[in-house]
Amino acid sequence: MWISIKQARQPGSIGQQAQVRGWVRTRRDSKGGFSFIEVNDGSCLGNLQIIADGSLANYQSEITALSVGSSVVITGEIKASAGQGQSTEMVASEVRITGIASATDYPLQKKQHTFEKLREWAHLRPRTNTFGAVARVRNRLSFATHQFFQNDGFLYVHTPIITASDCEGAGQMFRVTTLPIDKLPMVNGKVDMSQDFFGKASYLTVSGQLEGETYATALGKIYTFGPTFRAENSHTSRHLSEFWMIEPEMAFFEIADNMTLAERYLKYMIHDVLTHCAEDMEFFEKRIQPGVTAALQLVLDTPFTRLSYTEAVEILTKCDEKFEYPVSWGIDLQAEHERYITEKHVQGPVVLYNYPKEIKSFYMRLNDDDRTVAAMDVLVPGVGEIIGGSQREERLDVLTERMLASGLKAEDYWWYLDLRRFGTVPHAGFGLGLERMVQYTTGMTNIRDVIPFPRAPGSCDF
Ligand code: ATP
Ligand code: MN
Repeated sequence: MWISIKQARQPGSIGQQAQVRGWVRTRRDSKGGFSFIEVNDGSCLGNLQIIADGSLANYQSEITALSVGSSVVITGEIKASAGQGQSTEMVASEVRITGIASATDYPLQKKQHTFEKLREWAHLRPRTNTFGAVARVRNRLSFATHQFFQNDGFLYVHTPIITASDCEGAGQMFRVTTLPIDKLPMVNGKVDMSQDFFGKASYLTVSGQLEGETYATALGKIYTFGPTFRAENSHTSRHLSEFWMIEPEMAFFEIADNMTLAERYLKYMIHDVLTHCAEDMEFFEKRIQPGVTAALQLVLDTPFTRLSYTEAVEILTKCDEKFEYPVSWGIDLQAEHERYITEKHVQGPVVLYNYPKEIKSFYMRLNDDDRTVAAMDVLVPGVGEIIGGSQREERLDVLTERMLASGLKAEDYWWYLDLRRFGTVPHAGFGLGLERMVQYTTGMTNIRDVIPFPRAPGSCDF
C-alpha cells in the first residue's frame, strides 16, 4: 500500500508492509554492507530513513550510486527506530529508481544555499526543508481562511481579475491589452483605445473591494480570495507585484465590528497553524526565527491594542526614537513609524484607526469631526501593516462629494453609487495580504520567499 511519509513516520505504522514514493535527500553506505537512504515526499518536514540491505538485487548496481534528488519507489516493512528525531524507519524489500538526478548537475546538494541563490532555482526550491515548510504553512493558512469565513456564514465570491474601473490608483495598475505596442493605432495624437480587446482600457485588479461591496449589499457577509496586482515600484521585503489577498466585506457592520472580526480571523489562523503545522513551526523556531512561536502564542492570549491615528502621532512625536521621516498630524505613517508602534511601543499587534481623510481613499466613511475617516490598519511586529480596512461611506451625498474632492468622476462609478441609492446600509471590510501573513507566522524575512514564483519590479522569472 502506498502511504505518505507523514503516515509512515507515525508510530502507529510500525509493523506495516507499505510503499513510499519520494526524492532522496541523503544516502550513507555503511561498512556492514547496507545503506541508509533518507527520503522525503513533501507530506511533512521529516524524512523517512530507509535501510537498504546489500542482499537487494540492485544493491551494487544502483543503490550504492543513488544520488541526492533522485526519485524512488520503496517497498518494505516499517519498524521502530532507535535513531534520533524519528520513531520509525523502513527496511526495504525493493528499491525502485524512477529518475536519477545527476550528482554533478543537481543544484541542491547537501551544502546550504542562500535564499537569494534559491530564488534562481524557484523550480527546485520546494524540495528544500524551508520552502517545503513554507508551502505547507501557506496551504494551511489558505484552508483556515475558508474554514473561518465559511463557519461564520460568509459566502466566497469571485471578483474579476481584469477590470475596467481603474479605481484606486491608475498609476499602480498593470494594463491589459492586445494592441501591438510597436504599432499603436492612433487618433488625434492619442492611442485609439476603442480598437483594444475590450473596446476600452482595461487593467489587472488592485483590489476586489468595490465589486465585493455589490455582493455584500445583497448577501450580507462575503469574502474574496484571489490574486491582486500592483505595479508600484517598491523594492522592499514586504511588497510583491502579484500577491494574494483575502477581502471580507460585511453589510450592517461598523468599524468596531470590523476590528473585532479582523482580530478573530488573525487569531483563528494562528491557532490553526500552531495546531496543524507543529513540526514545521518547530523548524521555523529553530532555524529561521527563534521566538516566533512564543510571539504567536502571546498574540493568541492578548487582546489587540487599539489606538487612534491621533494617539499614534502623539506617541511618535513624544518618543526618543530618531525617524528618517518627521512626524506630524496629517502625514501618512511610514513603515518605520508603524514598526515603532507595534514593535517598541505596544510589542504586539495593534489596530490603528481614524486616519486623516486626506491620506485615505474616497470610499472610507467620514467621521463626525470632518477631518478623519473610519479607516483601520492592523500592524504586527516584524511585518508592519498586515491588514488595511475601513467602514465604507454609505451616504450618497457625502460619498459623491468625497469623490469630487479626490478628482474622480461620479459617472465612472455610477454602479458603486447605486449601492447607496438603493437600500444603502452601513458596511465595512478589510484586506489581508496572504504573503504578509505567511511571513508573520513563519518569520521569513523576505516576501519573495513565501510565494512560489515571486513577481517584483524587474523580476518575473519562470
Ligand atoms: P502598504 O502600505 O504596506 O504598501 P497598502 O496600504 O498599499 O500597503 P492595502 O491597499 O491596504 O495596502 O492592501 C491591503 C493589504 O494587502 C495590506 O495590508 C497588505 O497586507 C497587503 N498588500 C498590499 N500591497 C501589497 C504588496 N505590494 N505585496 C504584498 N502584499 C501587499
Ligand atoms: Mn493599507
